[in-house]
Amino acid sequence: MAGYTPGEQINDPDIIKLNTNENPYPPSPRVFEAIRAALTGDQLRKYPQPFGDHFRHTAGRVLGVDPDSILIGNGSDDILTILTRAFVPEGGRMASLTPSYTLYRSLAEIQGAKFETAPFTAEWKPPTPWPLRGADLTFMANPNSPTGNALRPHEVAAFAEQAGGVFVLDEAYADFAETNGLELVGKVPNLVVTRSFSKYYALAGIRFGIAVAPPAVIRELVKVKDSYNCDVLSLAAAAAAIDDQDYYAGLRAKVIATRGRMTIALTELGFHVTPSQANFVWCRRDDKPVKPIYEALKAKKILVRYMSYPDYGDGLRISVGTAAEVERLLAELRKLV
Ligand SMILES: *Cc1c(COP(=O)(O)O)cnc(C)c1O
Repeated sequence: MAGYTPGEQINDPDIIKLNTNENPYPPSPRVFEAIRAALTGDQLRKYPQPFGDHFRHTAGRVLGVDPDSILIGNGSDDILTILTRAFVPEGGRMASLTPSYTLYRSLAEIQGAKFETAPFTAEWKPPTPWPLRGADLTFMANPNSPTGNALRPHEVAAFAEQAGGVFVLDEAYADFAETNGLELVGKVPNLVVTRSFSKYYALAGIRFGIAVAPPAVIRELVKVKDSYNCDVLSLAAAAAAIDDQDYYAGLRAKVIATRGRMTIALTELGFHVTPSQANFVWCRRDDKPVKPIYEALKAKKILVRYMSYPDYGDGLRISVGTAAEVERLLAELRKLV
């Protein structure tokens, strides 16, 4: 198997890093206080809470869900692995639309499962009716990566019902979107929602994510997770972050404003930009290949993500940076295109 290829993580403070959709702003000050408070000999000496009870009670209150419907993960990638282990037999079937998050295929390969895909329509909708019926596990990134398009909850519900099997709504970017599918949990019985703390909560370095599903489903997922998959520092950081919604609403407003300016400016430069509800934009062009643009930007210390998909083609996925970072990006692009 080829294995998943993560985005480049170059440790150079001069680099403008717009390739793996991190939040360009730091996490809430309350996160730093919570980590400092957790740095005691006793807390580091002992194992963490296996189910993250303190975190789950805070998150349950903030999200308006039963704490027993929350599973903690070492990043939402850990949650996706747990879901695959729990629900996909060897030789089973996994599915997602394409282009989407490429980890889904790697998870199928690790599990010894078949992986099936179908393309989005030209309007960035799934084909109707849902073409990948009966898979053991279906992943739908919403908003989608690398494209940023998003479906409304009633559309998600209809496709989940048609798909059958376990339907995972990967909401890594939902906090930046207009709507999300959390209200569907429990109403659409086969639906599991996953969230990441890496993007919206600016905690990619901490590794934390969750699943929200009916408690009976969470009980099955718990059976296959590592007992202590989240450490005391990440649990403290995640609880403090989710409890500071006001701070993050401020970051969200800045990211969305910059995303709007990026979309207009990139379109003026001749890119086809998919309307995005996430903290990145997907750019393609007809007149010239985009890989040399990626390489030229990298030479100027601006890192974006070049992605190429079989049966679809390639493009650049550019994270929404700070206003100053985006100005630098646009200045370089004006010279290049
Ligand atoms: C970033 C991302 C994830 C994983 O995030 P973690 O850092 O593991 O929490 C999952 N799904 C999609 C679509 C993503 O873009």
